Amino acid sequence: MSLTRLFEALASIKQYVKLLSMTTIQLDKQFFMGGNATFTVQNPQGEYYTFKICQPNKSPRFRGQSVIPHFASLLTGPDNENSYTYLGMVNPETGDVKLTRQSRYTENSKPFQVIRWALKHALGDRQIPDGYQINHAGHCGRCGRLLTVPESLTRGIGPECWSKMGGAA
Ligand SMILES: [Zn+2]
Repeated sequence: MSLTRLFEALASIKQYVKLLSMTTIQLDKQFFMGGNATFTVQNPQGEYYTFKICQPNKSPRFRGQSVIPHFASLLTGPDNENSYTYLGMVNPETGDVKLTRQSRYTENSKPFQVIRWALKHALGDRQIPDGYQINHAGHCGRCGRLLTVPESLTRGIGPECWSKMGGAA
């Protein structure tokens, strides 16, 4: 084998290993379908969305199915507890997300594709490529407010409390 060929082979092996490098989602189906789950999905570039999956008290059933759907919404405003926009219906057995007439999103909108991707893996093989993260929302260790931003989740302290406590930005 020539040296060039060898390097080519090594490069393709490297690429292959990179593709195989996966992270296991630590959260269970029970979390996502618990009826009041808030979680943040982050990509390697640091972009993220925060979703909420709820099971309302009065919920229509899927046609011809016995499962009671849950509802997914996207955090679109400043209030981590309340600023959510309805996204679609979730089948709690399969994790499949469907748009409904009330949904403001389309099949092509990124939030829809991201939650679909996240739930597919969370309820399936639970393996996602390295650099992607799915974290459940946590509460600030100082004031108890709900945290959704990846940086705050890692710290366990919200940005306001963090600066009051003298933490570096
Ligand atoms: Zn706080």
